[in-house]
Amino acid sequence: MKLEIGNISFNTQKALKEYIRSVLRSLGHDAIVDANSPHFPFFAALTDRHPEADVKIGIGIRNFIVRESWGGSTSTVVFAFDIERTDGSRIDISFHTCVAGKSNSRKQDIRNVLRATIIPQTIAYRNEHFVSGMLCLLCGEPITHPKDAHVDHTDTPFKSIMDSFLSANPDFPLELAEESEKHHYVFKDEDIDYKTKWIDHHRSLAMYRILCYKCNVRGGKSWRGQ
Ligand SMILES: [Zn+2]
Repeated sequence: MKLEIGNISFNTQKALKEYIRSVLRSLGHDAIVDANSPHFPFFAALTDRHPEADVKIGIGIRNFIVRESWGGSTSTVVFAFDIERTDGSRIDISFHTCVAGKSNSRKQDIRNVLRATIIPQTIAYRNEHFVSGMLCLLCGEPITHPKDAHVDHTDTPFKSIMDSFLSANPDFPLELAEESEKHHYVFKDEDIDYKTKWIDHHRSLAMYRILCYKCNVRGGKSWRGQ
């Protein structure tokens, strides 16, 4: 399916992201994209794809402002952009969310949030149980570095734990907050009860084992539980 963004068409979401990155890089940190800029229609069309575009746009867009960001786990600089509204207020907007678009259903967003929410549990398990040189439970190869030790859900797969939770608790929050650093969704503060219920549900069912990176990938089950 072709993507049409501000009169430019892209064959894939990947191509679209590469284009966005190259434009942001060429403009550089603090560059202002105002209504006279040839890039303005593109950024405006991109913003419209955001599931919460109305909230992001608010009273109206005056400019887009390019800024440097940090690339998650790596230390490389990546570029992002903010919206400056006509009243002077400024808000960040994730271009990844814009690229994914409105078709990225709320239920999928919720699944991503549920998955991210229990990462501290799996990291805690790894920190507690990883010993350098321990053997992978599937292939028997020694695992020397914690980065290569992957926490795998055994007994009840992660997806089953999540599905049973969602069917028992269908009143999931319709609105999520966006974490400002990495631009992924998180639960809003007011949804702490739902979040706690999920953490407890997951903790009561999750059983883990530590596998090497290769076996984890081969099994098609990442430590995130895919
Ligand atoms: Zn292995």
